[in-house]
Amino acid sequence: MSTYEGSGGRRVPGRKCENKNVTEMIDPFGRHVSYLRISVTDRCDFRCHYCMSEDMTFLPKTDVLSLEELDRLCSAFVRKGVKKLRITGGEPLVRRNIMSLFRNLGRHLETGALEELTLTTNGSQLAKYADELYDCGVRRINVSVDTLDPTKFQQITRWGKLKKVLDGIAAAKAAGLAIKINAVALKDFNEPELDSMLKWCGDEGYDLTLIETMPMGDIGGDRIDQYLPLSTIRERLEKNWSLTDIPFRTGGPARYVEVEETGRKLGFITPLTHNFCESCNRVRLTCTGTLYMCLGQDDAADLREPLRASEGDEFLEAAIDEAIGRKPKGHDFVIERGRSGPAVARHMSVTGG
Ligand code: SAM
Ligand code: SF4
Repeated sequence: MSTYEGSGGRRVPGRKCENKNVTEMIDPFGRHVSYLRISVTDRCDFRCHYCMSEDMTFLPKTDVLSLEELDRLCSAFVRKGVKKLRITGGEPLVRRNIMSLFRNLGRHLETGALEELTLTTNGSQLAKYADELYDCGVRRINVSVDTLDPTKFQQITRWGKLKKVLDGIAAAKAAGLAIKINAVALKDFNEPELDSMLKWCGDEGYDLTLIETMPMGDIGGDRIDQYLPLSTIRERLEKNWSLTDIPFRTGGPARYVEVEETGRKLGFITPLTHNFCESCNRVRLTCTGTLYMCLGQDDAADLREPLRASEGDEFLEAAIDEAIGRKPKGHDFVIERGRSGPAVARHMSVTGG
């Protein structure tokens, strides 16, 4: 073991990586950080009700890191032991020239330094990019679809067209990408449809993950109206499906069951009813170079300044070590009547979910 004294003066435990001048990221609670999510843009071609208000103010383009800078940042994290990179947003596939980032990051898969390069997308641009994503080394993707009813789809996304998304998913399947569908469970919205979504995923060969709404960002409405506990959903689904708990874990908030009738996985992301923090292995980077050590806390570290301060990565790596030394033990999400405002002020599209 060695220690690094971060710029905040805090002693940060670390361990030398294979590259012997770089320390791995182990936080004060002994958790090994091996997963980085990068929001490459806060912009999106949809306006999902639970995620954004209709009238959003986006970051000025000048504040956003270039794709070359994002590559440099991600590569520093890979050197420091990150094995999995997830590109997200906003909608990552609406960022201009985004494939150049995928192509460049793919080199870390070739060397074996990185185990997985993946993305979360709303699927609207997949028909265009599925083959190229596969060519860059992407093998699995998450696509967010909350309903299979075209009218309801347009209602929840405000601007989305279901057909375009389904065509995109079909193109991704044809390209050889494994697909997981993410659906936010919303009271009085997709609640009655979850059985048919599970069936559709089974028929198509997709896994499905259901997500509880999280209190992030002001979206102009009362979240208590949308909140639907997944424990209730599971009970209901069990009337029609045989669900068996499986030990599959990703180090994140999802717990999985196998659906006997389809042989596919069904995940439940329950940040509000189940505390998943003890096994947290991840940090999140915004497109302006701000590192959030926890999805549910406001504490963050700026990596843009150390990135730009030198052509070498010494300041950047020191700033990353200092930030990891401040990774909090857990989050404080809470949804309750009389407290309908967001627990954290930023929108999910800033940190990328
Ligand atoms: N635009 C892409 C998409 O929709 O998949 C990637 C970014 S989006 C912010 C990532 C995921 O976060 C999506 O599955 C979305 O449904 C989910 N999400 C957004 N806001 C949320 C909220 N307040 N609570 C729970 N999940 C949310
Ligand atoms: Fe866009 Fe994804 Fe947020 Fe929907 S959930 S508004 S698709 S970033």
